[in-house]
Amino acid sequence: MRQLIAGNWKMNGVFADVARFAGPLRAATGLGCDVLVCPPATLLAAMAQALAGSAIAVGAQDCHPDPPGAHTGDLAAAMLRDAGASHVILGHSERRAAHGETDAVVCAKVLAAHAAGLVPIVCVGESEAERLAGRAEAVVAGQLAGSLPGGFAGVIAYEPVWAIGSGRTAAQADVAAMHAVIGARLHAQFGAAAEAMPVLYGGSVKPENAASLLTLPGVHGALVGGASLKPADFLAIARAARTLPNPAGGG
Ligand code: PEP
Repeated sequence: MRQLIAGNWKMNGVFADVARFAGPLRAATGLGCDVLVCPPATLLAAMAQALAGSAIAVGAQDCHPDPPGAHTGDLAAAMLRDAGASHVILGHSERRAAHGETDAVVCAKVLAAHAAGLVPIVCVGESEAERLAGRAEAVVAGQLAGSLPGGFAGVIAYEPVWAIGSGRTAAQADVAAMHAVIGARLHAQFGAAAEAMPVLYGGSVKPENAASLLTLPGVHGALVGGASLKPADFLAIARAARTLPNPAGGG
């Protein structure tokens, strides 16, 4: 399995940024990982066209749980697929916090992504208060149980909320421990199918710390926010990634 390096642009980027990114990404040779760029929805189609024929995939940052219909301002999973997305980030902590997304809502969105042929990237992670209270593993286990439907097929991103956009990265031992917990939970929930569910780490991943995080056991890639906005930094992180000898869950 190749590690997956996914960039989450969040609410950033204008049309001119598409070419500024697509050029260096297309030109990058010898990457030993899969690469995914998730621009805002306004740029999805343009980015997909700019990267067409390359090995770089394009993803969305959210979808509505319902099929196309009367939901002003929202985007259905099928519409994102039509725009060129292959993946969709779901349940990011910013959406859980700012939009009140519960595990049940995330689960409904995962089902919509499945139905549209999108690969869901489901984000889980504890707050700092929850970690300090010794509840990190229980919180993440609850999110996995509530956010992933039976038959789930996709990617998990472990993102400790306090490490997102803060410049603080979780301790390597804590990352490895949580990835082991997540791997065990996925096996308990889905059996052998869990082998095909990569578990990414996210939270202030940058060129300087990418190699140390990406070599931890059970880390199958990274979800990158801030550093994904600079092509050179994003590519430096991708160059720190590799092809894993074992399938997901196997370390
Ligand atoms: C994220 O938004 O998913 C993220 C990990 O952001 P950052 O890399 O900026 O911490």
